Amino acid sequence: MVKKKGKAIIVGGSIAGVSCAHTLTLAGWDVLVLEKSSEPPARSPTGAGLGLDPQARQIIKSWLPNPHLLDQITLPLSIDQNQETESEKKVTRVLTRDESFDFRAAYWSDIHGLLYNALPETIFLWGHKFLSFTQDESIVKVKTLVMETQETIEIQGDLLVAADGCLSLIRKTFLPDLKLRYSGYCAWRGIFDFSENENSETVTGIKKEYPDLGKCLYFDLGKQTHSVFYELLNKKINWIWYVNQPEPELRNKSVTLKVSQEMMSKMHQEVDTIWIPELARVMKETTDPFLNVIYDCDPLERIFWGNVVLVGDAAHPTTPHGLRSTNMSVLDAEVLGKCLEKCGPENVSLGLEEYQRIRLPVVCEQVLYSRRLGRIKQGLDHDGIRSAGFGLEQRNIPFFSSAPLV
Ligand SMILES: Cc1cc2nc3c(=O)[nH]c(=O)nc-3n(C[C@H](O)[C@H](O)[C@H](O)COP(=O)(O)OP(=O)(O)OC[C@H]3O[C@@H](n4cnc5c(N)ncnc54)[C@H](O)[C@@H]3O)c2cc1C
Repeated sequence: MVKKKGKAIIVGGSIAGVSCAHTLTLAGWDVLVLEKSSEPPARSPTGAGLGLDPQARQIIKSWLPNPHLLDQITLPLSIDQNQETESEKKVTRVLTRDESFDFRAAYWSDIHGLLYNALPETIFLWGHKFLSFTQDESIVKVKTLVMETQETIEIQGDLLVAADGCLSLIRKTFLPDLKLRYSGYCAWRGIFDFSENENSETVTGIKKEYPDLGKCLYFDLGKQTHSVFYELLNKKINWIWYVNQPEPELRNKSVTLKVSQEMMSKMHQEVDTIWIPELARVMKETTDPFLNVIYDCDPLERIFWGNVVLVGDAAHPTTPHGLRSTNMSVLDAEVLGKCLEKCGPENVSLGLEEYQRIRLPVVCEQVLYSRRLGRIKQGLDHDGIRSAGFGLEQRNIPFFSSAPLV
């Protein structure tokens, strides 16, 4: 007898969605991905850099027909360094330095492209906006708006995977009162491209002050503020600068804010008062910096209901200080796929229960640690920067070297 294949509908075609498309396909499921964006992202203007940990890299490689491509599109981050900036004197002092760090830096769009291109195009429905769903026994029916024709269609499956990001509409169905927690700060972000002016004063200056650029994840801590930067492939520097401020109003349901000329001029003035001139210049000479509002969410008590399951930022919105978001999405997908494979499509809820049992304790601790790290670095934690037993280094993050798999 031919074994029945399960059909999974994944909402969201970003990192968590494409990762789940890999693992569910490998687990023997038919997969359909609904994504509201009209086409696959190329060099997305909102995308920048991210750090991949060894475990996530190994997992990604196991999904790919050409695993070596992951090394080709990433640069090593083998040092994790925290340093203090004394703004008045414009000097820096090393606080911590971990030389056994083993991350790799990548562009969001390169990682997304690598994962997406290794999947059949036919499983993706771009320009399809998820509207609502109903659950009936083991069937889930999903209503979707086809953006081009404005027609509403219904798709039926055995499993609904919510990979629709930190503002998840699917999560809202189960947790209508859940609110994201504004961190107290926003992040200026940008990519400084020095591919055509490698010998400029700005580039020689930053390389002199930060000689390990190209292999180091630098954190600079000022008074009630901090920044992070590292080099990306093709002569670019990815930087993020966290600024304490009241919560801005979100427009278009996006955590990325549109930046006016006035905001940019103010930012340019402020960088000079805080950072050493070499770093300030990189920030000021970056074209099209953007502003992210930083949220997270108190850990959820559950991440599945019947045959609907949350993954990625939908399951655990987090602040970026632990470099977790993408790594957590990859781990979620891997564990979900393996649990469903083990239990088979006829026992979806058993598989989802195991997924929740494995992932929930890990992501809860990581979200809370990342929150605390951010608050300490932004001077918002009353215990202050040197609170006992709390390390600034990335290696202190719970489950840092390996999170449990199936
Ligand atoms: C364009 C883009 C660029 C990014 N760049 C970076 C980066 O440079 N560095 C970094 O660390 N992180 C970046 N991220 C975030 C990072 O990918 C995520 O935080 C993390 O990997 C978790 O991913 P996710 O798939 O859970 O959520 P997200 O990446 O937020 O993806 C959610 C997806 O769901 C889709 N979606 C939402 N609602 C609906 C709906 N109703 N119907 C259909 N689709 C829907 C969204 O369009 C989006 O593609 C970026 C995300 C995006 C979307």
